[in-house]
Amino acid sequence: MTLDIRTLMVLYALVNAATAAAIGIVWYQSRKQYAGITFWLVDIILQTAGATLILLRGRVPDFFSITLSNTMILAGIIIIYMGLERFVGRKSSQIHNYVLLAIFITIHSYYTYVQPNLQIRTITIAAMTLILTAQPFWLMLRRVDPAMRPMTFLVSTIFGGYVVVSALRLILLIVFPLQGNDFFKTATPDALTILTYIILTAGLGFSLILMVNRRLLGEIKTDAEELQRSNAELERFAYVASHDLQEPLRMVASYTQLLEKRYKDKLDADAMEFINNAADGATRMQIMIESLLQLSRITTRGRPFQVTDCEKVFQKAMANLQLAVSDSGAKVTHDPLPEVMADDVQLIQLFQNLVANAIKFRREEPPKVHVSARQDGNEWVFAVKDNGIGIAPKDYDRIFVIFQRLHSQGEYPGIGIGLALCKKIVERHGGRIWIESQPGQGSTFYFTIKATGMRQQA
Ligand code: ADP
Repeated sequence: MTLDIRTLMVLYALVNAATAAAIGIVWYQSRKQYAGITFWLVDIILQTAGATLILLRGRVPDFFSITLSNTMILAGIIIIYMGLERFVGRKSSQIHNYVLLAIFITIHSYYTYVQPNLQIRTITIAAMTLILTAQPFWLMLRRVDPAMRPMTFLVSTIFGGYVVVSALRLILLIVFPLQGNDFFKTATPDALTILTYIILTAGLGFSLILMVNRRLLGEIKTDAEELQRSNAELERFAYVASHDLQEPLRMVASYTQLLEKRYKDKLDADAMEFINNAADGATRMQIMIESLLQLSRITTRGRPFQVTDCEKVFQKAMANLQLAVSDSGAKVTHDPLPEVMADDVQLIQLFQNLVANAIKFRREEPPKVHVSARQDGNEWVFAVKDNGIGIAPKDYDRIFVIFQRLHSQGEYPGIGIGLALCKKIVERHGGRIWIESQPGQGSTFYFTIKATGMRQQA
């Protein structure tokens, strides 16, 4: 069987063009992130143009189809090598390659125009390919950082393939010298090397894309770990700071109390007022610090999730709110509630805070609160609806921030921790919390919690 070189070269040009398109996409997406990708694209475009020029042999001047085409292909290898060096952060001088390319052009031109000899030209091309592809092979195999090697190994293998095929081609050329001076009429052994180059080109495209992909995935993972680590650090910091502030604050509080007790009779009204204000401030700060600690304990002291019956959770929350319910004459109703995967203690706290707020922020009439749940995919959407004072849309986000309140102490007591705790609890469970409300028209707080995974009816 003979392989038609012209057909193979058409295939070679097409595979190069397809690879150029694929690398073009990678270049478009990642050129700003990673150095060197532009060089890869330039290489593949040069390879495609070189292969196309070779195909046009006889139709365009020999300078284009013989000299320029092969120079483009070999220069392309130097360029992709430079690109790979940049990609892995190992830049080196390329002078030896430029010198090699100049020598190649001289020899190749001599055996094209002065003393045409296809055999010697092909040998110089094979030798150059061998020398040039050996460099990226070694770069990706050994010169890269050991941590990067799993990522660069495939590209190195492909270049290893080029090295082996070019070496074999040299041997074949020596054993079976090419006859005549027409590249398109050469015999099967050389055609086989071209076929292998085609496969290697496709392989190179794939391996480059996989390498970028692997690097991207690796970086996403590192970023996620870094984020987790800094979050944990921040929480630890908040915890330690609040914890350590408690002691000096206790001193301030107890000494102001002592001052008040001991010198009550000796101080005038102004001085007593100042002492009272200082004591008030200290107490408020103690409550705030305790709130911060409570908030950080949601994640640090949370219990593992288990199947939790929300009916029971709701009953416990209501038992804790007994006094508020009877004092306000509130009517709290609920639909059947499902089982979810949750930390039950935190879920009690969540229901308790939301229902307590629904009772606290009431209007003149007795509060009416209704709790319901509906399944949406693999999660439950809970709703706590009241007929209270409502909230303007502009404040929807603010109310979930710690210490943010919309009212003075006089109007409604509190320090602005309840909803921040609710948000943290819901987020620890992988859910979301939000509100729908209008001033004067009641509010509905929604939150989601993952279902147990079993089919269940509310
Ligand atoms: P606190 O109750 O201590 O003020 P929260 O974090 O529980 O703190 O609530 C923050 C703010 O959100 C409240 O000050 C109030 O303005 C508003 N809010 C919370 N729940 C309701 C509700 N059910 N109806 C109207 N406003 C509410």
